[in-house]
Amino acid sequence: MQKTRDFHYRSVHDRDAFWREQAGRVHWETPFESVLDFSRPPFAKWFVGGQTNLCYNAVDRWLPTQADKPALIWVSTEVERERVYTRQEVYEEVNAAAAVLRDLGVGRGDRVLLYMPMVPEAVFTMLACARIGAVHSVVFGGFASVNLAQRIDDAAPKVIVCTDAGSRAGKVVPYKPLLDRALALCKTPPASVVVFDRGLAPFEPVAGRDLDYATLRAAQRGARVPVTWLESSEPSYILYTSGTTGKPKGVQRDTGGYAVALASSMEYLFNGKAGDTFFCTSDIGWVVGHSYIVYGPLIGGQATVLYEGTPVRPDGAILWKLVEQFGVNTLFSAPTAVRVLKRQDPALLKKHDLSTLRAVYLAGEPLDEPTAQWISEGLGKPIIDNYWQTESGWPILSAQPGVEHVPTRFGSPSFPVYGFDARIVSESSGEDLGPDQKGVVAIVPPLPPGAMSTIWGDDERFVQTYFTSIPGRQVYSTFDWGLVDADGYWFILGRTDDVINVAGHRLGTREIEESVNSHSGIAECAVVGVADALKGQVAMAFAVLKNPAAAETPEGAKQLEADIMRLVEDQLGAVARPARIRFVGALPKTRSGKVLRRAIVAVCEGRDPGDLTTIEDPTALEQIKESLQ
Ligand code: AMP
Repeated sequence: MQKTRDFHYRSVHDRDAFWREQAGRVHWETPFESVLDFSRPPFAKWFVGGQTNLCYNAVDRWLPTQADKPALIWVSTEVERERVYTRQEVYEEVNAAAAVLRDLGVGRGDRVLLYMPMVPEAVFTMLACARIGAVHSVVFGGFASVNLAQRIDDAAPKVIVCTDAGSRAGKVVPYKPLLDRALALCKTPPASVVVFDRGLAPFEPVAGRDLDYATLRAAQRGARVPVTWLESSEPSYILYTSGTTGKPKGVQRDTGGYAVALASSMEYLFNGKAGDTFFCTSDIGWVVGHSYIVYGPLIGGQATVLYEGTPVRPDGAILWKLVEQFGVNTLFSAPTAVRVLKRQDPALLKKHDLSTLRAVYLAGEPLDEPTAQWISEGLGKPIIDNYWQTESGWPILSAQPGVEHVPTRFGSPSFPVYGFDARIVSESSGEDLGPDQKGVVAIVPPLPPGAMSTIWGDDERFVQTYFTSIPGRQVYSTFDWGLVDADGYWFILGRTDDVINVAGHRLGTREIEESVNSHSGIAECAVVGVADALKGQVAMAFAVLKNPAAAETPEGAKQLEADIMRLVEDQLGAVARPARIRFVGALPKTRSGKVLRRAIVAVCEGRDPGDLTTIEDPTALEQIKESLQ
């Protein structure tokens, strides 16, 4: 692995020269004056003074060589439709969408919020924002009104673009009513809502506010909207993510650094080239979708597959069918999807010709060894576990086959990616730890190109949240535990905070608690993440009732549980709904009033709860145990 080490060393120790070379992968309308401004740590500005544009690099730049080649391949097994857009067609659609936004008064720096499922119009709108220098904020379709309202209030978008509905496993999921409810909760709702009507769920347009996407677009057929060149550090998008407080953080991404990081990753991490086909099964509402459904492949001159559907409909071979049909070279998915496939007939893995496929990348949650082994043997392809976060924008740890072929190890996302000066540090002393010692995965700043520049509208919170938790040094905390073995392979060992990961979806337990607590019958509650064979983790809620008699009978408890689940689903979305809600007389707390979450998790997972000397009422933990029976 010497080559990988040398490559990484150079990216961190000969930073300017390294990144100057990488910057040559994208178009700069105005060249940058310096590679890095790190005069105000931990804030890093990459490619200072350079002017570029994400949409230009993803679309216009490839027109001379790829106008007639597929760029966006849309497949929906939900509405049984397929459509392949060439780069020229993407260019046309993006220009029309940009003209629509421009005519609604959207300009440089204005925010546009998208609440859309996996439809091409979502990608066109994202690229249209980038084209005119607007900042998009895509909200995952699985989120509901309260989540949505928080994000609208924080980003203060000028326009919202949504659809009437999405579809999940054949069931229509209306989006528009959720948006209407969110807007009713907002302090400053935007003047215009553009609705892309798929004809899935009838809705009542709000007069004077709601506009029809198809009508506006038709009026802009053939429109040409000039690219707005942005200084490299100007924001391209905001993407909200959960943390330990109830208020989600708006991760702000820059423009130039992101373009360079993604362009380089297409070669070094994915070993790809222009003309390839890339298939990422994530959702555009998550960071993996931003980077590897939309921007990465398109900036790299690749075709990207946008798939609306699940891995098991119409059957468990659908992903492999699409690989064969479109000659996919790189597949990027999540461990949960593989665990879902594991419950299907293994013969389905062999049903299609996968000769174009080079490797399968998995990220977003821990990849357990048996799952990695099963898929690796079943497909006979390399499996590349890569570790990253919304904040990092692209992988922090990964094998880098475009740099060097180094054998992977099941259970390990291999090594730090170039640009990330990752360390395992002691939580108590802040010092770097040696091989096989468990510590916090930290990154010595500057964070590399492509990583978050700040929290939207809150520089102070950015510093406070990420750079103050390790004693004695200003390093970025990932809030993940990890270790490096004696051979240099990295392992991720779970979160250090109360963030949980359900089927690759990152959720803050505090947000779920706030939602459960908003039920009039609840006095207080604790939500924890408990190990689950399929989803990695599921949320479990333990609640104390104002009137315990309400859950005295099994029927009463069941009814209450269903009511609260519906409430959480209404407010936050189905992804955040706890798997179970149990009613207890008291929560296990320390004498100073802190809920003993780790002890609750241990009890739920049938493990020893460990040191309980600080517990105020030992019977509280017994009640948790009993409530599970
Ligand atoms: P998100 O910001 O939603 O992408 O979630 C990031 C978190 O997911 C990380 O901090 C980890 O806890 C977890 N995660 C992502 N990728 C991996 C991986 N390959 N292995 C283990 N955990 C992962």
